[in-house]
Amino acid sequence: MDDAPNSEHFTLTPIGHVISDYPDKFGIPRQPGLAPAANARLVLAAPYNDPLAVRGLEAFSHLWVTFIFHQSPERWSPLVRPPRLGGNKKVGVFASRSTYRPNRLGLSLVTLVDIDTRHGVALQLQGCDLVSGTPVVDIKPYLPWAESHPHAQAGFAPETPPQFDVTFQPEALSVLAKRQDGTTLHALIKQVLGQDPRPAYQQKDTASNRLHGVRLRDVDVKFRQRQNDKATTLEVVAIEPYTNHE
Ligand code: SAM
Repeated sequence: MDDAPNSEHFTLTPIGHVISDYPDKFGIPRQPGLAPAANARLVLAAPYNDPLAVRGLEAFSHLWVTFIFHQSPERWSPLVRPPRLGGNKKVGVFASRSTYRPNRLGLSLVTLVDIDTRHGVALQLQGCDLVSGTPVVDIKPYLPWAESHPHAQAGFAPETPPQFDVTFQPEALSVLAKRQDGTTLHALIKQVLGQDPRPAYQQKDTASNRLHGVRLRDVDVKFRQRQNDKATTLEVVAIEPYTNHE
């Protein structure tokens, strides 16, 4: 038989795709749950979009989503530089959550908000750290009694990363005020910029007045740092409709 049980190769078929608030990789928080205002829809594909396949799932509040880092290159190396270590120290790929890994498999614990079985199956999720279009290969319910270890050791990432203060210029606030999703978009911007998505080398330049942009939903959020005394604040200077320059 071709597909002998001891085969050394395995073929994965996506069971569906995520449509998320993150059109780009840049800016996405580095773990799920850091931006709870981030919405995502996991749309299952045929033949996995049979409502029978999710029967009983509605009784679970959280899910493990296994997916492919499809926007990462297939090459990998044994050592990686976690952003958490400032981007200049190396650890083993298997001691990290790097997206540059063999098989490119990712794992995220997300909140399950709703299951829509009107046309196939779509799961409404919160707190996802996945770029829109990410292929999903499996979902499993989270079992807190078996999988929650609040006192576990977590190496170079022992605690929640620090949250930066985020302020908005009046023009940006008025854009939000005119939008139906203004409240949740405001929360999402605060949570995403609060993680300081800038690369480590730019974070260190406290004198920089450089303008940065992060895409969320259908907008481009322009921001820059403000340095006062010892604290860095990130200030939203504009929220513009996204234009694709490709
Ligand atoms: N929680 C997952 C894990 O541990 O496997 C993902 C952690 S990974 C460090 C999170 C980052 O992956 C995000 O900040 C985003 O930039 C990147 N990312 C999200 N979706 C991706 C995709 N489909 N392909 C490549 N990179 C992706």
